[in-house]
Amino acid sequence: MRIVIIGAGPTGLGAAYRLRELGHEDFVVLEKASHAGGLAASFVDDAGFTWDVGGHVMFSHYDYYDRLFETMMGDAFTLNDRESWVRIMDRWVPYPFQNNIRYLPKQAAYECLRGLMHAQLRREKDPREARHFGEFIDLVFGEGIARHFMRPYNFKVWAYPPEMMNKTWIGERVAVLDVDRALRNVILEEDDFGWGPNNRFKYPLKGGTGAFYERIARSLDGFIRYDTAVASIDHERHIVHCADGTQEPYDALISAMPLDLLVTRTLTGSVPPEIAQAAGSLLHSAGHMVGVGIRRPCPSTKCWMYFPDDNCPFYRVTYLSNYSPYMTPDQSGRNDQYYSLLCETSESPCKPVDHEAIVEDTIRGLEASGLLEPGERNDIVSIWHKRVEYSYPTPSVERDQILSTVIPWLEARDIYSRGRFGMWKYEVANTDHTLMQGVECVDRLLEGTPEQTIGIVYRTTADGRGAAEHARPKVAGSGEKRLQVETRQPPTPVMRGREG
Ligand SMILES: Cc1cc2nc3c(=O)[nH]c(=O)nc-3n(C[C@H](O)[C@H](O)[C@H](O)COP(=O)(O)OP(=O)(O)OC[C@H]3O[C@@H](n4cnc5c(N)ncnc54)[C@H](O)[C@@H]3O)c2cc1C
Repeated sequence: MRIVIIGAGPTGLGAAYRLRELGHEDFVVLEKASHAGGLAASFVDDAGFTWDVGGHVMFSHYDYYDRLFETMMGDAFTLNDRESWVRIMDRWVPYPFQNNIRYLPKQAAYECLRGLMHAQLRREKDPREARHFGEFIDLVFGEGIARHFMRPYNFKVWAYPPEMMNKTWIGERVAVLDVDRALRNVILEEDDFGWGPNNRFKYPLKGGTGAFYERIARSLDGFIRYDTAVASIDHERHIVHCADGTQEPYDALISAMPLDLLVTRTLTGSVPPEIAQAAGSLLHSAGHMVGVGIRRPCPSTKCWMYFPDDNCPFYRVTYLSNYSPYMTPDQSGRNDQYYSLLCETSESPCKPVDHEAIVEDTIRGLEASGLLEPGERNDIVSIWHKRVEYSYPTPSVERDQILSTVIPWLEARDIYSRGRFGMWKYEVANTDHTLMQGVECVDRLLEGTPEQTIGIVYRTTADGRGAAEHARPKVAGSGEKRLQVETRQPPTPVMRGREG
């Protein structure tokens, strides 16, 4: 079986690494960039600061991923305790906001508690029945938390109103709170910080988060073709055409490029209009990453911070230089001369961003939110700005319906779209999930093992088609309360040329 992989990001690298591990060497990875890592790559700017494409922390739900990290990194990593905060109403509230509302001004804390009690004690509807994320927020958190934090913060991150989003992605991503815990935290003045799967995280000692993926890529020397953009895919003849004029025939194609672009701009041959229309309706947001390097000792031990207020454009800022002592021009390991702030702002048609002004707006936002002291902008020695068109795969209300149409159609043609924008499932779109999507896809192709992470269940319908339905993936990072459905055996090998 000749396997072609599009993209040397975590998904493609996971697939390629697994192929070699299983002794299958008839494959190639096509990567349009001149480096590996995709969105998990890191960059060193001219001044010597290292930047990620948005603050990347590593926390894993998989033994396989942990073992691979150990194999590649040895002891060249740091272990950091999460210190994350919310900047709101001119104060710092520990993350998660909803568990720590006692830090708010009294009136706002009262509004949050009152809303929570109304929502949960009057319970008009089971939140699991919520039609969209907006309704879920109101049913679970109530009016106060929704108005002060959940709605403004989520709009800044997603760049779409919560009414346009489903609620399937929630799980470990949003801490759900009950009235008793909220009351206890407020009345007994208890802190509540430890929630979540990422309260301790690993980070490469040198080279940013991308160092891990560079090392995997190096172990695949000779199998990755860099600077090789895929221009078109003849799905009927099973041939990939590259922009440099070369061709790569395949028996199976694993693609980590964005699913909408794959279907609407890259496939040639007949594509039913309903498939093209469905894939073209997937929503995403772009991201502006602005790194600010400052010649001063770091004033804080914080890791990352969330910003719901409208006095700054960004939704999140990371003290990236706190992750490792080798993130700044000072490579002595002392980390006492410089520090770095990585600021993330989302953009979509619902939330435009002025590309020319975003750097200055970011610096002003850092000043307005107290991260830069008055006059400190004079000590900025480096600015790094990167815009990525595909930053967050929006879990829109229609998303699962779209995926259950498009993914099986592609698989019936031996195209396996996987990864953050290949599968478009934010709930399984971190680096551990995406790398494992690549690994599991290979296990399925070569050994017939069902995939666990993508959470798509295949059933053979009466007419023999492989129909997809959505279930919560078995792995953590995806489910509200582990409402699992047994993953059934996928139809392996996939039927070629049949309607999916
Ligand atoms: C702002 C932000 C913050 C994040 N924070 C975290 C975090 O804290 N922790 C975490 O674990 N994960 C985080 N992630 C997620 C992580 O970056 C992704 O899980 C991971 O990069 C996805 O890997 P992928 O291979 O699926 O896709 P990508 O990384 O997008 O890789 C796809 C690759 O395909 C290539 N490609 C695309 N089109 C073509 C073409 N036509 N021809 C050839 N090559 C092509 C691209 O150049 C790219 O290299 C974050 C992501 C973002 C955007």
